[in-house]
Amino acid sequence: MLNVEIAGVMVSDTAMIVSGRTVQPGSPAGAGWLKLCPFCEAELPPQAVVRPGHCGGAECQQAHVRLLQHRKEVMWQEGYRTRAAEYAVQFGAERAVLVPFQNEALVPLPKTRRAEFLTHLRQIVAEAFGAAVPDEMVEGEVQTEQALDRAACATCQGFCCRQGAARNAFLYAHTISEQRSREPELTAEKVMERYEASLPEVSVDGSCVFHGGQGCVLPRQWRGETCNQFHCKEIYTAADVLEEIGGGAVLVVGERDGEARALGHLDEAGNWTHGGYL
Ligand code: SF4
Ligand code: SF4
Ligand SMILES: [Zn+2]
Repeated sequence: MLNVEIAGVMVSDTAMIVSGRTVQPGSPAGAGWLKLCPFCEAELPPQAVVRPGHCGGAECQQAHVRLLQHRKEVMWQEGYRTRAAEYAVQFGAERAVLVPFQNEALVPLPKTRRAEFLTHLRQIVAEAFGAAVPDEMVEGEVQTEQALDRAACATCQGFCCRQGAARNAFLYAHTISEQRSREPELTAEKVMERYEASLPEVSVDGSCVFHGGQGCVLPRQWRGETCNQFHCKEIYTAADVLEEIGGGAVLVVGERDGEARALGHLDEAGNWTHGGYL
């Protein structure tokens, strides 16, 4: 059972300890005798005992929201670990971690989307080249790719890259300025050319323009900061799970809509192999 302190109240995933008494929040039994706001201990009017479950003060309301978020997070974490354990049994692995999964079709990029992206690119390139070559810039941190990250993203096939569709691959003027800072001879034409030439023949339907059949087609130093830094919640949780069990080989399950759709194997040496689709 997880216990945390929120607004001075010890909260567990099943009970609140208020003024030394343990009550079951929201339960009929608890509602009968929980008369105090669990956060500030002000007396609760009868109608507030069950809902909203606090006195209505701004701070207590915030604490209540944090409590609900906390419970939701606990449930998510429990669900993740339960499903991972079930998949491990189902697929005969010692342990498993979960990641998202996408397998939309590969389609030629619609002309309108290509044109929209190139318009955006021209704008940010003009903005970046409208100023002098920047001195060495503090670059967005490019996180070192860990074996688990690579295994997770390879099994998942880029679920999060769908977000790059509406955001023009997360490219901004500062992405271009960083490249100028690294390569002072770079010209606007060269930048346009490098991105335009990188656009794949076919890309994942509805996803980022650079989302090709083998993942992102851009080298890391041409990608936006968001792309180089983002890790989904499932990866963080997978890393926690691996740490809890002392590392080692693990089955990576790509899951969509609550169902296992793809498998990947990460061995002790950090090598990933595809385990097939389901
Ligand atoms: S960061 Fe997460 S959602 Fe994105 S590709 Fe990797 S595993 Fe998939
Ligand atoms: S640029 Fe690459 S990593 Fe970034 S959203 Fe597009 S496909 Fe994904
Ligand atoms: Zn209160």
